[in-house]
Amino acid sequence: MNAVAPPPLPVPIGLLAELTHRCPLRCPYCSNPLELDRRSAELDTATWQRVLREAAALGVLHVHLSGGEPTARQDIVEITRTCAELGLYSNLITSGVAGALGKLDALSEAGLDHVQLSVQAAEAGNAERIGGLKDAQPQKFAFAERVTALGLPLTLNAVIHRGNIAEVPALIDLAVRLGAKRLEVAHTQYYGWAYVNRAALMPAKPDVDRSIRIVEEARERLKGQLVIDLVVPDYYAKYPKACAGGWGRRLMNVTPTGKVLPCHAAETIPGLEFWHVQDRPLGEIWADSPAFRAYRGTEWMQEPCRSCDRREKDWGGCRCQALALAGDAKATDPACSLSPLHGKVQALAVAESALETAPDYQYRTIGGAPRVATPEGAPV
Ligand code: SF4
Repeated sequence: MNAVAPPPLPVPIGLLAELTHRCPLRCPYCSNPLELDRRSAELDTATWQRVLREAAALGVLHVHLSGGEPTARQDIVEITRTCAELGLYSNLITSGVAGALGKLDALSEAGLDHVQLSVQAAEAGNAERIGGLKDAQPQKFAFAERVTALGLPLTLNAVIHRGNIAEVPALIDLAVRLGAKRLEVAHTQYYGWAYVNRAALMPAKPDVDRSIRIVEEARERLKGQLVIDLVVPDYYAKYPKACAGGWGRRLMNVTPTGKVLPCHAAETIPGLEFWHVQDRPLGEIWADSPAFRAYRGTEWMQEPCRSCDRREKDWGGCRCQALALAGDAKATDPACSLSPLHGKVQALAVAESALETAPDYQYRTIGGAPRVATPEGAPV
């Protein structure tokens, strides 16, 4: 009898290069790990350039230069130039503050393809309260102005939560005013530091519904001028998103110290073995790393995912969220309406969003330990 051939290995299309965890902002929904990597442990320039060469050889098309704040790296221009030389489409994901503006012209000359600028709110005081940095807003506006003056395509990214959901119309106006081609209205995903701040961030369902209607109306009104991407909040969704396009299928994430992760928050899952770019070529890591193999495909799934006809659409949702909410990374993501825990998750979201006064944000710093329990072992 012939053995069944294993499914072909998917080709990764994107690499998230987390160049550093250093960041001038302290957003309460930051998706970086609870323990941030220190500067002294960051990969050097030559190693990043080798990683980029290996990524291009593997078939990667897009590189997201991220962090933290990627322009905090002295070698950001060199790294960007390497992307251009390799034919990799480079996207700078930046806060646009501190030294970012001073490096922008050189980045453009080095072949940068695209800029994604974070905005915390439209109103300056609110933006600065959320990001934890005074005078951030004028710096961001000056940065955006220079991006468009250089002819670079600009995307604004606004993470939406209780503290800024009323500003969705103003954020749309802001994107138009700053000359952005695209706006991401991205409701908070509750893992990493956002899980720590969940009760402070959770918006009410009627406000979420209103924000979706506003985006739909603006899409019509601004057709041809501004594209608006909408990421709906998991806790109020019917079905979950395919996390990272499906575990180990499209994306990989290299941390500042060279660990290769299948998704941004994968380190919250205990027991996973991550391989490092210092020890092995990227292609070997993509194919064989125990962390990538753990949840690639559908073999690992439990019911109801295992027999669900959506299992190759959303790949069971988010493993980190399944762990955080169900206490089991192999469980169906409780954001899914077919999960036995879905009702509890929705009730929790409603209860937190109904708090008359939201708790204060817990801001993060490098080396600062979280002051509340981590997601691990803290299911709904
Ligand atoms: Fe997706 Fe699993 Fe829900 Fe089906 S049961 S929709 S595969 S998360």
